[in-house]
Amino acid sequence: MSDDPIERSGLGKDFWRHKTMAQMSQKEWEALCDGCGKCCLNKLEDEDSGEVALTRVACRLLDDSTCRCAQYDIRHQFVPECIVMTPSNIKEHLYWLPQTCGYRLVYEGRDLEPWHPLKSGTAQSVHDAKVSVKDMTIPEFEVDEDDWEDHIIEEPL
Ligand code: SF4
Ligand code: SF4
Repeated sequence: MSDDPIERSGLGKDFWRHKTMAQMSQKEWEALCDGCGKCCLNKLEDEDSGEVALTRVACRLLDDSTCRCAQYDIRHQFVPECIVMTPSNIKEHLYWLPQTCGYRLVYEGRDLEPWHPLKSGTAQSVHDAKVSVKDMTIPEFEVDEDDWEDHIIEEPL
């Protein structure tokens, strides 16, 4: 799994099917992320309907060649509003989480997709399945916030 920026070695087989989120170790919890990068895209929320639209405008720290945060461990120094997902707050964030997000799937009691690195054994499978944001984003410093609506996209599924 050398191409995988998330450490997934030594985890129990199908642990996400046998443990509750609250029972997972920090390593197991982090490993639920498939690395798609979709949660690092800016979204537009309709105040009246509550509908959330995804844009191709990415957080300033997203590296869209890898779909990884360029400063994950110290990201809050640069992006204080970046949300830290936990077993206790995932429910309140569910409304904007991507449909294929590993956290959503496990929270909803569903299995991970076959292309998830925990199943495929490689991070590349997420890009090959075309569910990641690889090479399709625009950095937020290049687009005025008033123009984000010109960059609304459908979630890659
Ligand atoms: S949307 Fe979910 S699976 Fe994809 S990068 Fe974000 S946390 Fe990970
Ligand atoms: S700070 Fe990093 S993890 Fe948070 S939204 Fe930006 S790129 Fe994603």
